[in-house]
Amino acid sequence: MPFADISGHDRIIEVLRRSLRGGKTAHSYLFEGVPGCGRKKTALTLIQALFCTVLPDDACGACPSCRKIDGGNHPDIHLIAPLPDKRDISIEQLREMQHDLSLRPYEAPRKACIIDPAERMSVSAANSLLKTLEEPPGNALIILLTENAGLLLPTVRSRCQLIRFAPLSPEHMLSLLQLGGMGADTAALVAPMSGGSLQRAVELDNESLVARREAVLSRVSQLNIHQISTVFDAAEELSGNRDTTLELLDMLLSFYRDAVHLGAGSGEIVNRSVRPAIESIATRRSLRRNLELLERIYETKRDVQRNANPKLALDHLFMSMAGSSR
Ligand SMILES: [Zn+2]
Repeated sequence: MPFADISGHDRIIEVLRRSLRGGKTAHSYLFEGVPGCGRKKTALTLIQALFCTVLPDDACGACPSCRKIDGGNHPDIHLIAPLPDKRDISIEQLREMQHDLSLRPYEAPRKACIIDPAERMSVSAANSLLKTLEEPPGNALIILLTENAGLLLPTVRSRCQLIRFAPLSPEHMLSLLQLGGMGADTAALVAPMSGGSLQRAVELDNESLVARREAVLSRVSQLNIHQISTVFDAAEELSGNRDTTLELLDMLLSFYRDAVHLGAGSGEIVNRSVRPAIESIATRRSLRRNLELLERIYETKRDVQRNANPKLALDHLFMSMAGSSR
């Protein structure tokens, strides 16, 4: 796929294309970022552009080499990952790969290899790779993918050009999910909860999330300051560990943003499939009060991110949400 099909990493792509044009790509790269943010796609496109017989700094997508890479069957590319029943990438796998890199390429100008996830190389495997990273045989290109460069041996890190991939922004995520066929309101629900990982967003799109959304809307609609158990029961049921609480808060943010839109007279909301519930949030309180609550949810999210106790944080938040109606 051409670089233009990769979302959210324009600056990185510009740097890579410039080095392709100048014939100055590094021997070894280390791509750091959350899985599912586009690291592997970028790595494959970089190799594709390097091998492409038509374009100097991009993949044309149509020449035999580009088509083979898109089809996952180019003979000069190695993808190294832990074997199915193993935790780590073994030294044997790397030895075999290194031997192959030393042979003449079948059809590409050079060979290429992606190691993913690089932090799963055993120490002996990583050590065996040092010389190859420094001077890859046959001018091969080696790309390591990792979630956290700090998990790799410093000797491995220092031999690679480090490129940091930011998590995908919610806006990029939203458009990618919808391009992939996800409904707009599901995409709007999972995008802020995905941590910038497309993979995670797709995993989130399942029945349990829909069930959780129903549970959250139902608990929120029952909050009543004159029946204090509604506050503590809701916090008890909906809080969990830090991550599930942050997910819940992202969900509430999405609902209250929609309620504020409705209150301000805009008909456009993202949570369309639960519109009646959002309308009832919007009409139960004044616009000003809903804006205050939206701000309270943001504050609670920041507190939980800073390690506040999830249950206590939700107790306080739900107390505000149960409070005065107007
Ligand atoms: Zn091509």
